[in-house]
Amino acid sequence: MKKIVVIGGGLGGLSSAISLASQGFDVTLLEKNRHLGGKLMPVTLGDAYFDFGPNTITMPDVFREVIRLSGENPDAYFEFIKLKTHTRNVSYDGKVFDFSSDQEKMKEQLSMIDPVGAKNYEAFIKEITRLFQLGNSHFFRKSFTSSMDYLSPGLGAAFTKVRPLQSLHQFFSRYFSDPFLLQALDRYATYIGSSPYISPATFALIAYLELVEGVYYTKGGNWKIAEAFEKVARITGVTIRTDCRVTSIQVKNGKAVAVLTADGDTYPCDVVVMNADLLAAYPELVEEKERPHFPDRKAASFEPSISAFVALASLNTRNKQLLHHNVFFSSDYKKEFKELFEERKYPKSPTIYISNSSVTEHEKGPSGDNLFILANAPAVNGSDTQDGFSESYKELIYETLDKRGVSINGHILQEQLITPQDIKSNFGAFKGSLYGVASNRKTDAFFRPRNKSRDVANLYFVGGSTHPGGGSPMVTLSGLNVAEAIVKRHAKK
Ligand SMILES: Cc1cc2nc3c(=O)[nH]c(=O)nc-3n(C[C@H](O)[C@H](O)[C@H](O)COP(=O)(O)OP(=O)(O)OC[C@H]3O[C@@H](n4cnc5c(N)ncnc54)[C@H](O)[C@@H]3O)c2cc1C
Repeated sequence: MKKIVVIGGGLGGLSSAISLASQGFDVTLLEKNRHLGGKLMPVTLGDAYFDFGPNTITMPDVFREVIRLSGENPDAYFEFIKLKTHTRNVSYDGKVFDFSSDQEKMKEQLSMIDPVGAKNYEAFIKEITRLFQLGNSHFFRKSFTSSMDYLSPGLGAAFTKVRPLQSLHQFFSRYFSDPFLLQALDRYATYIGSSPYISPATFALIAYLELVEGVYYTKGGNWKIAEAFEKVARITGVTIRTDCRVTSIQVKNGKAVAVLTADGDTYPCDVVVMNADLLAAYPELVEEKERPHFPDRKAASFEPSISAFVALASLNTRNKQLLHHNVFFSSDYKKEFKELFEERKYPKSPTIYISNSSVTEHEKGPSGDNLFILANAPAVNGSDTQDGFSESYKELIYETLDKRGVSINGHILQEQLITPQDIKSNFGAFKGSLYGVASNRKTDAFFRPRNKSRDVANLYFVGGSTHPGGGSPMVTLSGLNVAEAIVKRHAKK
């Protein structure tokens, strides 16, 4: 039986391991942390529970598909709750617009602030649906392992139809004119760690996922997805080792022959699947002479997606105006993205996202709100490591929220801060990025590093830095896509 070693137990590594083991391969998964799920990490502070990482879940069928592949019933593993009104957007001057997949609710609110937008709403929904369908059939369900994959005529035709030359902001402005509503829609660019003023309109398909298909929460916490994947991986026969850091991949004659770990073990292999962030791990684990098409300078040339400054806070009070997802916008979004991407600084006046899952599941914060508070931050640049920076930035965030009517100071039972530097070291993320490569350049948006090494014949890549991109459903798909490519190319016996 062919031996496959998967490096990293994020959603991408787990989905590929399950798919490969279900199809008869001998799979071993090595994860450096104690938990599986990678950036989808459970955190408990006192009696409060938090999901670090994916709080907003879309495309639940992708997660169900992984369980089904193993022959198990997804309903026995997780339940996805669709949030009726999923995101409360609050402008800097206190206006409120609630996003929902209920189109009548959306039109009703639009008619008050953007009557032309209300009239355009159906055409808008039609167009974002078209963009999603094209993306789904030509990009998401396909691994890109060789140059031939980029040359298929269907892909070329699809590429021209997904508005690659228009920016997201320009696209939304064709339908809507209210500046606050545009700001709320432009925020979708941050789901791919990018700027709405540069990233292509193609990514309006994210709006389709939320505004048409809806936003979900996994009963018991989103980490249930990773927990389910772990259980099913074990059922399908995957050997899992946690607390096990891979230190190198041994290459002979252009082929990976073994994976070495920090505790001195050697895992001989026929195929390696790297889920660890390829931009950081490929240069670290494979000697530079073995990867002439991917020298260190190439890895360093990619623009990382944005990172995040996160405060997890359990409170002894409940802020009644909060929904499960909330965004408190700054007054100048353009300035914020300039600070993040051009000046590589923490925004002086940040837009702040809050997830309060205790709104949906009271027991996740029995004593009060369980707040996951996130401000966009530049990829690692050193400023967050200066003494006292994290504390002072946290205070800025809490004070901003206090002024907007969210009481935090004076109500904190326990808290934990997580900085871009922590994201880099905890998960091996390239410069602490959340979603791998930014999609600000057309080349990065559509031509991310491919799913297979050009130099090491049996080394494959899954996860946020490769195709189809970052975000929990996309990395899960990358694991499934790559497993299919491996099944096609490598005979089982
Ligand atoms: C703060 C934050 C908020 C987010 N919000 C959302 C959201 O709301 N919705 C959404 O869909 N997505 C969100 N994301 C993005 C999402 O979490 C990621 O795109 C996805 O989880 C990445 O999965 P992955 O499989 O690519 O890699 P990861 O989860 O990064 O997994 C890679 C694994 O490899 C391991 N590893 C690295 N190096 C080694 C080594 N040498 N040896 C062994 N193991 C190694 C790491 O420890 C890690 O477990 C968010 C991310 C963050 C950080």
